[in-house]
Amino acid sequence: MDELRLKLAVQKSGRLTDPSLDILFRCGLKLSRGKDQLMGYGENMPLDVLFVRDDDIPDLVQEDVCDLGLVGLNVLEEKRLELRERGQAARFQQIRTLDFGRCRLSLAVPEGVSFEGSSSLRGKRIATTYPFLLQRYLRERDISADIVTLSGAVEIAPRLGRADLICDLVSTGSTLQANHLREVETVMESHAVIIRTPLTLPPEKDEWVERLMMRIDGVQQVKESKYIMLHAPRSALPEIRRLLPGSESPTIIPLEGSTEKVAIHAVCRENVFWETLESLKKAGASALLVLPVEKMLA
Ligand code: ATP
Ligand code: ZN
Repeated sequence: MDELRLKLAVQKSGRLTDPSLDILFRCGLKLSRGKDQLMGYGENMPLDVLFVRDDDIPDLVQEDVCDLGLVGLNVLEEKRLELRERGQAARFQQIRTLDFGRCRLSLAVPEGVSFEGSSSLRGKRIATTYPFLLQRYLRERDISADIVTLSGAVEIAPRLGRADLICDLVSTGSTLQANHLREVETVMESHAVIIRTPLTLPPEKDEWVERLMMRIDGVQQVKESKYIMLHAPRSALPEIRRLLPGSESPTIIPLEGSTEKVAIHAVCRENVFWETLESLKKAGASALLVLPVEKMLA
């Protein structure tokens, strides 16, 4: 392996895989995947992608096998606590928050079981794949309960009589519902993050980390951004500026043959909804045009 190529760990197959590859692709990365599918080779960047189980991603950075990793905050924090418990320091730094992989680690009880705040957890058996996060939560509330650590299929543990309740990841809640469980408390909110090694990298590699992070910022910013163009009477300018969602100072352009009307161009950092366009029209705007923004570099 080339020492000057960055190594980035990404989940091999799961909820983070598609959005991770999508963001890298939007950053301009062209990836060719080998036959074994375990490694992707960056054709136009000195960056290789390792496809692994998400639980192994913090370890790969911790052990300097990879320089970067893309993983859920839930997995990362669990690992950090586990290392702390063993008296070891985490050797990964979180350098970006990503806008996908949103979920929460929650406590859920079987339907029909009452729950009156965290004191209801006393002496109960709680099944989870996140024993360290759950332990921290219980300790902070001074509650002693039995943590039943499982490697998967946590949601069926109460029905199998292995636990009284569970602590598991939830996004929409449909899995809980299907298993007749009721979400009662959030232990932690989570989303995907990028981590890097705290080691000093050779300048060539460091420069590419910087470039990649800048592109990621750009990609995340433009996702919701729109370029909006419209005509409006000068007198309506204050009202129109107020209505434009999340825009910085717009460009005002005179219109040929009109002293009273101008053209306004602005980048809106939020989605522009029909309601906004209707309000703009009411305020005097005409010839409204909304365009998607493809790339942005501040
Ligand atoms: P692996 O085989 O890589 O260990 P896994 O089964 O542990 O896969 P996934 O279910 O694919 O993992 O979830 C990966 C990550 O996606 C989670 O750690 C979490 O950060 C995020 N995630 C987002 N929404 C959910 C959800 N509803 N349930 C579980 N994880 C979610
Ligand atoms: Zn996993």
